[in-house]
Amino acid sequence: MSRAVALVTGGARGIGRAVATALAGEGFDVVVTDLRDEGVSRLRADIEAAGVRFAFHQADVSNLASHAAIVDAALSAFGSIDCYVNNAGIGSPVRGDLLELKPENFDRVMAVNLRGGVFLSQAVARAMLERPGANPRCIVNITSVSAEMASPERADYCMSKAALSMWTRTLALRLAPHGIAVFEVRPGIVATDMTAAARSKYDRLISEGLVPAGRWGQPEDVGTAVAMLAGGRLGFATGSVINLDGALSIARL
Ligand code: NAD
Repeated sequence: MSRAVALVTGGARGIGRAVATALAGEGFDVVVTDLRDEGVSRLRADIEAAGVRFAFHQADVSNLASHAAIVDAALSAFGSIDCYVNNAGIGSPVRGDLLELKPENFDRVMAVNLRGGVFLSQAVARAMLERPGANPRCIVNITSVSAEMASPERADYCMSKAALSMWTRTLALRLAPHGIAVFEVRPGIVATDMTAAARSKYDRLISEGLVPAGRWGQPEDVGTAVAMLAGGRLGFATGSVINLDGALSIARL
């Protein structure tokens, strides 16, 4: 069996970076794609130190024309894509009353979080189907507790993640006969650049009990979960949702 290959979008920092590192620890060769290349040489060193290969392809996933090149970059570097992690995402450009939600902000969030993820996973799924391999194969969508918990200040973000959640299930049905599992991982409040501006607000809310586990999620929490799913040991699972939120989404305060 050749070494399995993972493609991670938005892997230059935050959750995507931790996912890429955890997959390397699981023995995957790793391809990262991101808008930015800051910090990528250190990521390369960390991943290569795990004894696997690393490739980087700079691209904007909201640009559908970039998808063929992303898939080609992975295939030409390492010959297959066995695990695709759709992680690249942005928060609401403007948080505020949904009665003031602007179409251009709605469109931007949907273009990155939903359209980018949907159509890149379509391209990856086609590539997987064209190249049957011996390794377990999966697609993992990083959604959010916001796929289910409504926030009127971030309606665009919540809608993008809710739709991606349904895409997970529909894609799981389509790919199940081919042995390709599709999962949804729903992080809660994770300490990354995305949440940096709200750090003190979340510190207070967590200390008041918002997160029953009593702490921030760390990017490594998500990395560990994705590596477990990608390892293929959950052979009969697909379309499954993993909540990674310290019980935030099931708590009634
Ligand atoms: P982050 O902002 O720290 O990192 C996101 C990465 O994605 C960055 O490297 C960025 O350059 C890249 N990216 C953004 N837009 C892109 C595009 N159009 N094309 C390619 N790359 C792009 O964010 P994070 O907290 O690590 O979030 C990662 C994912 O996890 C997102 O989908 C986010 O919605 C989700 N999530 C985060 C949290 C949290 O609390 N941080 C909670 C739930 C879900």
